[in-house]
Amino acid sequence: MRLTEIGEFGLIDRITRIVNGSKPDIVVGIGDDAAVVRSDLRKLKVLTTDVMVEGIHFNLAYTPFESLGWKALATTISDVAAMGGIPLYGLVSLALPVSWNVENVELLYKGLKRCGDVYQCTLVGGDTVQSQGMCFISVAVMGEIEEGSVVRRNGAKEKDLICVTGELGGATVGFEVLESGQGKDNFPDSVSRFLEPKVRLQESQQLVKEMHVSSMIDISDGLSSEITHLCQQSDCGCIIWEDQIPVSKEAIFWSRGHEKAISAYALKSGEEYELLFTVARTEFEKWRNSTKNKKNVLNITVIGEITRKEEGICSMKGGKKKQLVPDGWDHFHK
Ligand code: ADP
Ligand code: MG
Repeated sequence: MRLTEIGEFGLIDRITRIVNGSKPDIVVGIGDDAAVVRSDLRKLKVLTTDVMVEGIHFNLAYTPFESLGWKALATTISDVAAMGGIPLYGLVSLALPVSWNVENVELLYKGLKRCGDVYQCTLVGGDTVQSQGMCFISVAVMGEIEEGSVVRRNGAKEKDLICVTGELGGATVGFEVLESGQGKDNFPDSVSRFLEPKVRLQESQQLVKEMHVSSMIDISDGLSSEITHLCQQSDCGCIIWEDQIPVSKEAIFWSRGHEKAISAYALKSGEEYELLFTVARTEFEKWRNSTKNKKNVLNITVIGEITRKEEGICSMKGGKKKQLVPDGWDHFHK
């Protein structure tokens, strides 16, 4: 069915039926001029928004609409997680090509809703307009942070350890596999990481509450870019031990098959949405002792340490130290 057949308000009706979010704290949801929520005055609010543009951030030739919806919300929630917050409400603004089917939008919302359900972020509104060209999706999220739990980019201190959650490289491999149009089934984890990234939300809460991390950022542009942001804002230098960076099995396999350096994937792969953070050594040791012999411990890896600013932003590989170039992966300008 064409969008023109049901019009803007018919479409919003359908969206409302999919989203169908009601929580006691939502006083007015979708359907009025704006949403109204009851807020907990004891907690700080965290607000963020992200935009995705067809042809720049996503390619509909291989991106299912449902995945697009998931990713649009997940990437925004990831920013909330990187501050130490939890998401509460989302607003979705859409500029839709008139040629689109209603079913496309319904699938997009299924993905948005699925992601919202997983991370407990309720969609409470948005805006819908026509686009004469490409599709454009903007998601704004409001969440909460307890006083004292805000983690900024500027808190890293000399001698802090630099760590990362999970494994890197998969998002770029997923992108390259999809662009190449073949071999999807051999790289399932990478493809799903690229299409539907997970948010390290629970991990971020643990890092903040149990490890008292000193600074944090999510990896959207690649490790080398993100560590540069952290160091610049914290007014310090760093050394990244390149051989310690955790890279996914699929990324190792793919890079070998394509005769590419694994470090390119480790340092440049963007859209990973893993958390990069710093922590004081004493806090790290305390945390490690407290989690000894425990199951389901956070999957984190120490990959470097913070140094004085004068020492610069560096990486070390095979005993050789060199300056780290903030060379983030850009999915559309190689
Ligand atoms: P206005 O004309 O005041 O912008 P709209 O008619 O655009 O109001 O919106 C009506 C209601 O539908 C509002 O509650 C708005 O938040 C919601 N809404 C509009 N578009 C979307 C969308 N894409 N996703 C979720 N809610 C939407
Ligand atoms: Mg409107």
